[in-house]
Amino acid sequence: MSFDLSSRLAERRAAHLYRQRPLLESPQGVRVTVDGQALLAFCSNDYLGLANHPEVIDAFTRGARQWGVGGGASHLVVGHSEPHHQLEEALAHFTGRPRALLMSSGYMANIGAVTALVGKGDTILQDRLNHASLLDAGLLSGARFSRYLHNDPVSLASRLEKAVGNTLVVTDGVFSMDGDLADLPSLCATARAKDAWVMVDDAHGFGCLGRNGGGIVEHFGLGMGDVPVLIGTLGKGFGTAGAFIAGSEELIETLIQFARPYIYTTSQPPAVACATLASLQLLRDEHWRRDHLQQLITQFRAGVAELGLELMDSPSPIQPILVGSSARALALSAALREQGILVTAIRPPTVPQGTARLRVTLCAAHSEDDVGQLIAALKHALTKLPEQTHD
Ligand code: PMP
Repeated sequence: MSFDLSSRLAERRAAHLYRQRPLLESPQGVRVTVDGQALLAFCSNDYLGLANHPEVIDAFTRGARQWGVGGGASHLVVGHSEPHHQLEEALAHFTGRPRALLMSSGYMANIGAVTALVGKGDTILQDRLNHASLLDAGLLSGARFSRYLHNDPVSLASRLEKAVGNTLVVTDGVFSMDGDLADLPSLCATARAKDAWVMVDDAHGFGCLGRNGGGIVEHFGLGMGDVPVLIGTLGKGFGTAGAFIAGSEELIETLIQFARPYIYTTSQPPAVACATLASLQLLRDEHWRRDHLQQLITQFRAGVAELGLELMDSPSPIQPILVGSSARALALSAALREQGILVTAIRPPTVPQGTARLRVTLCAAHSEDDVGQLIAALKHALTKLPEQTHD
């Protein structure tokens, strides 16, 4: 008896769900070379265009010279160095919270925070469209796990009625595949009425939302009483890598003691923390990046609406075009690629069945001309597509 991997792979191919990794042969950015082809890309999460910023690169290079390339050990052994510490202080100040804890990735931050806060005998309630890392964290925690209807405080309230033990309500800030915002004021009020804590993963909100890029919490003017556990990732708007959890002194000390993905992993390279200190300053101070992004979002939505394509209710740089079948999403993505434009098709199981989409992401490094090219290419791609493409 052996593992029948080939049938499993064949089934995936037959369902148009086989995934491939494009090979990037240039630095990532708005213009990239992928598998030998020069492309204008609309699929990076580097929303503010900071990943290639000269000041961020300089800080990284200087950091590597001074601190070396590797973290060397876990934080609790001897991997917690001065740049990590400075970045944690800067992130705490940025989020207006007493403390912040640096994590090596957003995936680990979510697993770490959830599993340190709830376990057997507790309850975790999550939006059904939350990111996979949050859903995995819920399963791993051993707490009673239930998913409420997307962004629906009434559905949350009915689940809160049945909650036992410590109850954690978890939501994406900006939903990663739809681009819409969590209705935090209502969700937080609903949770608070039942003494539940709210945890927000604002991976896609930091840098893009709020006057100073403070994300969804700044956008809605909420505080630590509303959202005691706030997660940000650094590989998106910040343009670097890693993640952080911000909250009270006690929360952070609890995570240092109990969050296994914090305790049992090597710290991120200190040079990355040096780079993030530089990108944080740009993210906060260069308001023009957010303003320009907003203009591009408006331009894109108007252009796509004119083509009769279906957009989602998204005010963020994540602007999915709802296509329906996986085959149609792949065909559209291929037709764009023939015209030198890279937009990835997102298919189940990443999104619900029948809601395959082109996930367009806009970035402050795009120009109005770039967005114009994308719209023209979409128009052309539509003329080449068969009327109905079924899975
Ligand atoms: N949360 C959300 C909402 C995300 O979209 C992602 C990454 N796509 C993560 C967490 C994971 O972050 P990281 O890439 O730093 O592991």
